[in-house]
Amino acid sequence: MLRDLPPRARWYIIAVIASGALTFGLLLPRATFTPIGPLVFLVLLSTLTAAFKVQLPIASGSNMSVSYVVDIASLILRGPHASMIVGAASGWSQTTINAQTPNPVYRTLFNMSILIITVQASGQVYQRLGGGPQTDVIAIALPLAGMALTYFFVNTMPIAFAIALTTNQSAWRIWKTEFASSAPNYMLGAAAAAIVIAGTERAGYWLTLLLAAAPLYLTYKMYRAGVESEARQGAILAAAHDAIITMDQRLDIREFNPAAERMFGYTRLGMLGRSVELLLPAADRAKEIEAIREYMTTGHGPLAGGRRLELTALRADGTEFPVELTVARMGTEGRAGLTGFIRDITEQRALEEQLRQSQKLEAIGRLAGGVAHDFNNILASIMGAADLLSMQLPPDAPAVGEANEIKQAVERGAGLTRQLLAFSRRQATRSRLFALGDVVRGMDTMLRRLIGREVELEIIDCARSPTVRADSGQIEQVVLNLAINARDAMPEGGRLTVRVDQVHLDEAAALALVEGNAGRYARLSVIDTGTGMDEATKARLFEPFFTTKEQGKGTGLGLSIVYGIVKQSGGYISVLSEPGRGSTFNIYLPLAAVPEPSPASV
Ligand code: ADP
Ligand code: MG
Repeated sequence: MLRDLPPRARWYIIAVIASGALTFGLLLPRATFTPIGPLVFLVLLSTLTAAFKVQLPIASGSNMSVSYVVDIASLILRGPHASMIVGAASGWSQTTINAQTPNPVYRTLFNMSILIITVQASGQVYQRLGGGPQTDVIAIALPLAGMALTYFFVNTMPIAFAIALTTNQSAWRIWKTEFASSAPNYMLGAAAAAIVIAGTERAGYWLTLLLAAAPLYLTYKMYRAGVESEARQGAILAAAHDAIITMDQRLDIREFNPAAERMFGYTRLGMLGRSVELLLPAADRAKEIEAIREYMTTGHGPLAGGRRLELTALRADGTEFPVELTVARMGTEGRAGLTGFIRDITEQRALEEQLRQSQKLEAIGRLAGGVAHDFNNILASIMGAADLLSMQLPPDAPAVGEANEIKQAVERGAGLTRQLLAFSRRQATRSRLFALGDVVRGMDTMLRRLIGREVELEIIDCARSPTVRADSGQIEQVVLNLAINARDAMPEGGRLTVRVDQVHLDEAAALALVEGNAGRYARLSVIDTGTGMDEATKARLFEPFFTTKEQGKGTGLGLSIVYGIVKQSGGYISVLSEPGRGSTFNIYLPLAAVPEPSPASV
């Protein structure tokens, strides 16, 4: 609607329509309508050729509008006043008959007005230069050229101006790139019109029509093919998942597809003509613009050969996000442009980050395991020596106390290395089949004592408790460690829920667990209503020795052990938590196939 346009564009369009109407109203009474037949013929011809945008293909791939040729013919034969009807008719039919999508009324009126003014002005020039309804092509050469040039300027400049005002671009640049090159077509068209008229004089209307029919039909076919390929291209742009942005040589945006609108939060109309710089954060803009420029001008640089460039992009609301950019260069030297294909890689980055995290844990685990193993051997020899020492001492020797302290310290050390070994999965396990719910319910008394009176405990088991194959002692350790953390997170009391159930992980849910596979799992959840965790804590949670607790309170080993056990049991662990919202630890263990009790085995 007219109201949606920028104010300056709106007033401009209204002004053009008003002048068109005024010109038409004032000058039409001076037109001669007789003989009426040829005039009606010209009006019909221009209506049809404009509606179907019939074009004559001419040299170097450009086209010449046939309705323009009709306008010129009419100007030669009938003068400017009557030709205004011919021009208005083509202006009207262009946007109404055969329009792909309905056009707003103001556009039709604008079109008609431009053509009325153009026809009037060029007709005046033709007559002032001495042109008349003669058919001697040589005699009217100069007036004809003047008329064609006037037509060209008066027709194209106001249109360039209207585009500039509605899309925030420079009118001069639009005119130069879109219209200037078509000047020769206008001259050719005028010549064509003169020749057709001369031919008509000598051979009559019918021969001309016959000669014109074949090229008209061919050009209509070409036009249909063009429309189809344009529609195809439009459909591709619209359906693409990636943002597709076309830029001109100055890196101003020329096309902005729906995916780009969604990705960046700008509207297409708002972005046309604006610099692509707008889509990059100010900090690293210069470097990336340089890469794009380099590719545009030389075809070399970091983007050459279809290479992908990862960079940070900027949304309309100011948020930044990672993208991958590939570009294609098109057009020839003078009018080269670039099309950029942009993919949002936020999700991919998050997955990579998770994978890195689990690989890091893996590496730390291997390291810790190696150290713990060697350390265990050292502890064993200290223990042996301390044993020998205390055996050699008389029972009342004062050194007996020290020897015992050595042994106790060694035992504490051995306890620590055991935990590290559990994390690094080097501990020997005793796997067996058991119902997960049974083990968890068996911990009821112990858990109650552990968490104290302030915290409520609820254990929820499902009807057919899932069977898993694991070391039940280790699973108890997992529940214990998680419960201790939950208690620590609820110093003022709260609620601890331990729940066992069965779930089906679909592809997406499994993928979220990094290396997870889809399928059915036993799920063990430990849920608290405590302090919760921020992102920074969640990111490092499972690292050995990572703790937020004061010295002496936390070792930072609890969750690393949980992680080690879960991995060793072939399961996955995930954490849901927000500061102040409590935490949920979900552990997924593969369901074990329960052997059917068969009569033969009795
Ligand atoms: P520790 O308990 O010795 O600190 P853990 O490996 O058990 O070591 O836990 C690491 C850190 O994770 C804790 O220091 C704490 O910040 C955080 N954390 C673990 N569980 C919870 C929970 N249920 N609620 C809040 N924070 C938790
Ligand atoms: Mg802990």
